[in-house]
Amino acid sequence: MANEPTQQNASVTATIELVLDGEPLQMQLTVPTGPATPGQLLHLLRGLTDAVVDSAVEKSTAQGNPISCRKGCGACCRQLVPIAPAEAHRLRQVVDAMPEPRRSEVLARFEAARAKLAASGMLERLRAPARMDETSRRQLGIDYFRNGVACPFLEQESCSIYAERPLACREYLVTSPTEHCAQPTPDSIDCLPIAARVSRALWQLEAKQDHDGLSWVPLITALEWAQTHPEAPPGASGPAQIESLFKLLGAAPAT
Ligand code: SF4
Repeated sequence: MANEPTQQNASVTATIELVLDGEPLQMQLTVPTGPATPGQLLHLLRGLTDAVVDSAVEKSTAQGNPISCRKGCGACCRQLVPIAPAEAHRLRQVVDAMPEPRRSEVLARFEAARAKLAASGMLERLRAPARMDETSRRQLGIDYFRNGVACPFLEQESCSIYAERPLACREYLVTSPTEHCAQPTPDSIDCLPIAARVSRALWQLEAKQDHDGLSWVPLITALEWAQTHPEAPPGASGPAQIESLFKLLGAAPAT
């Protein structure tokens, strides 16, 4: 993975080149040299996700399919958002660090969403997403959307934690008309094709390491989940985890 790595303050920086869909993508990654938690890698995984998405946007635009998502359109923020356990812990920290009364307002929105989902019988299903296959996950997503529950971080149809938004949110962009997003169907929505989904690779990486094989957590139950599941201790070294992540991504790092 490394091209002449430099070592500083127990971290290593390497220039990597990923080959995605035959296209080279070069970037620098700095990771802890010693045992690391997936949470410690989250910052660089966001950068990696953004780079992969930017490359996909460029390609799609060049093919005549520009992104139709616009600031102030939060239609997609009523969908089920699957996040990695490390992201659930991060969101808990983000909310805990909010000043009052904002923190209480956000927590109240989570509570209202929880009550609505409990009333429709969805909450129990959302609490047991472990090892759900793609078909079951898709059905869960359709049933969830019918509840019309907005993400508690959505304010005036914009993401209020934009810099901290999960990887799945970063990867979700559409090229179909925005008016279709209010009532999405598989036929009416064209999602931006992405060569490698970092979000899913992180779920898989964490499932291998801990949480009894749990691969993801719904954003809407993330705060309560993080409160009852302590963060896993540091595991493999930063470089080893990134190496595993690339394998899960199916992306070939050029050396
Ligand atoms: S975190 Fe932000 S982008 Fe993601 S669903 Fe919530 S409001 Fe939307």
